Amino acid sequence: MSDFEVIEEDLDHPKFQIKYRSSSTGSLETVPEKIPTIKILGTGGTIASKGTSSHQTAGYKVDLTIEDLVKTIPDLSTTCNLLYEQILNIDSKEIGEEELKVIYNQVKKDIEIYDGIVITHGTDTMEETAFFLQFTLNVSKPIVLCGSMRPSTAISSDGPMNLYQAIVIASDKNSWNRGILVAFNDRIISGYFLKKSNANSLDTFNAIGQGYLGNFVNNQICYYFPPSKPMGVSHLVIDSDFKLPEVGIVFAHQGLNNDIFKLFIENLKVKGLVIATMGAGSLKESTNRTIMELSNKHGVPIIYSKRSMDGMVPIGSLPKFADLKCNNIIASGSISPQKSRILLQICLMVGLDVEQTKKYFKKVYGGS
Ligand code: ASP
Repeated sequence: MSDFEVIEEDLDHPKFQIKYRSSSTGSLETVPEKIPTIKILGTGGTIASKGTSSHQTAGYKVDLTIEDLVKTIPDLSTTCNLLYEQILNIDSKEIGEEELKVIYNQVKKDIEIYDGIVITHGTDTMEETAFFLQFTLNVSKPIVLCGSMRPSTAISSDGPMNLYQAIVIASDKNSWNRGILVAFNDRIISGYFLKKSNANSLDTFNAIGQGYLGNFVNNQICYYFPPSKPMGVSHLVIDSDFKLPEVGIVFAHQGLNNDIFKLFIENLKVKGLVIATMGAGSLKESTNRTIMELSNKHGVPIIYSKRSMDGMVPIGSLPKFADLKCNNIIASGSISPQKSRILLQICLMVGLDVEQTKKYFKKVYGGS
């Protein structure tokens, strides 16, 4: 049973009539025509930060509330009814399990009530929050993350325009049934495929291999494709008081010290490990052996991901040994190390075993 249905009305100027499956009635219903009510959840980040001069673009601090941010955007009263709430006010590097729980539970509650949600968020870990929400929330309504690369005090700060666009995107019925969205620098990007590609520039977010979903120009949203959710993503049901199992990430490099794996698995007792391998899954022979021995001994799943921003680690790249079982290793496909960590944590948390987790990862990227 499909979650939604899209009817293209005019191919020259694509407009879609979207039906969605109502969680209360279970039937396909048309997205309401009435002016939507959008709630903004403020979590902090550079968009809520202030520096001491107009040219300062590093070393600034979170110092604005969501109310301050809403005051920077033009009147939207003909587009939507707007509500806002400060749920956190931190740099996104400080987001861990507790903060993710605050965001998840608030979005889960509010998306039942309002027509769309906007989340203002730091850009450094936006990929992780977006990915987590994509797998744990099963919703048709738009959930749009935004932030900024320049603090509010900088010349040409990008925050107000990104926030404004995010609200307009969340208010548009063409934004339904597209999964988690990110509004940034005039682009609309799938939260699932989102990549932060540049540590400083405004044009940091992209999805090189998969493409943008649309853009925003002169107050018009232009989607390039009809609504669809990312391939293979199926919702995993978690508790509101979830506990994320500890999963570490090892970044591989020439001359890697294999003792790092002992440290993670035997000393830190992680429940899973992700490796940013070189190329499409390469690690030196002795490293592969160490990993197999430790993962077999302790039953710890190991994800082979990659250092490169794009491309894939296919199942065919995983190491094989005649004298060692290699059952606990999983290929990440296109999923980055930081997103692989999140997905493995969710899989472990909902009780999937290694074989089920392998199938889940394979379903997500479709590789072999
Ligand atoms: N320091 C910021 C953060 O909270 C970076 C940003 O938002 O651009 O992630």
